[in-house]
Amino acid sequence: MILDSFDLTGRVAVVTGGNQGLGRAFARGLGEAGALVAVLGRTAAHNEAAVAELVQDGIRAAAFTADVTDKASLEAAADAIEATLGPVDILINNAGTCIHRPAFEVTDDEFAEVMNVNVTGVWNGSQVFGRRMAAAERGVIVNVGSISAQIVNRPQWQPAYNASKAAVHQLTKSLAAEWAPLGIRVNAVAPGYVRTEMAPVDKPEFRRFWIEDAPQQRAATPEEIAPSVVFLASDASAFMTGSVLVIDGGYTVY
Ligand code: NDP
Repeated sequence: MILDSFDLTGRVAVVTGGNQGLGRAFARGLGEAGALVAVLGRTAAHNEAAVAELVQDGIRAAAFTADVTDKASLEAAADAIEATLGPVDILINNAGTCIHRPAFEVTDDEFAEVMNVNVTGVWNGSQVFGRRMAAAERGVIVNVGSISAQIVNRPQWQPAYNASKAAVHQLTKSLAAEWAPLGIRVNAVAPGYVRTEMAPVDKPEFRRFWIEDAPQQRAATPEEIAPSVVFLASDASAFMTGSVLVIDGGYTVY
C-alpha cells in the first residue's frame, strides 16, 4: 500500500536542533511515522523538555547534548545514541543560526559563527553519522537548507546566512553523488519563511516583503514542513538523492 512506503517503524532518527522550532516538529513527525528519535542540541534542559513531550505521546525518544560545531561531542553523542536507541538510519541536519545585519557591520567572529554552525555543523554531522551509515550500507540524510540559498532576503540583510545555505545545498549534492554507491541518500529541504524563534514572521516591518511577496500570502508553521522531511527520510523517496525540495508557499516563483 502506498502509505507503507512512508512508514519509519523501528528506524532510528537523529534531529540536530531538535529541541525547538522546525527541528522539534521534525522530531515529532518522524516519531509519529514510527521512528525512534534522538533529539540533539546544546541545551540539555530544552532537549529533555522536547523529549518529555514526545514520550508523553507514545513516541520512543531520548535527549542528547552536543554541539554540531564540535565533532568530538558529536562522536560521543553518536556512541550514546547507538547504545540507547540502536544504529542510526536517519540524520536530519537541522541545527542552524542566523544574524540579521548589513555586511559592513558583521564581525569576523559573527561570520565565522554562522558558517561554523550552518555549514561545518552539517559537514560534521554528515561525516560522523555518514561513516556509520556507510558501514551499515544504508542511511538517509536530510539537510535543512533554505530559500536563502537562491534569493537574497529583504528588508533585513543576512549575508553570512545566505552564503551558508547555498553551501548546504551544494554540499547536499556533493555527498549525494559520492555516497549513493554506499547506500546513503542525501537530500535537502529549502523552506521559505516559517514561524519560529529564528524568523519573526509577525513583525509588521517584515510583512511587505516576507508575507505579501509570497503567492500564498502567509508564513508556514513548522508542522507544514515536517511531512516533507518524513517523505525524504522514508522509502517513499527511494529514488531521490541530491535533490533540494523547496517548500515556500510559492515565494521563489517571482
Ligand atoms: P531556531 O533558532 O528556532 O532553532 C535552532 C535550533 O538549533 C535549536 O534547537 C538550537 O538548540 C539548535 N542549535 C543551534 N546551534 C547549535 C549547535 N551549535 N549545535 C547543536 N544545536 C544547535 O531555528 P529554526 O527552527 O527556525 O531553524 C531550524 C533550521 O531551519 C535552521 O537550519 C534554519 O536555518 C532553517 N530554516 C529556518 C527557516 C525559518 O523561517 N525559520 C527558513 C528556512 C530554513 P540549542 O540552542 O539548544 O543548541
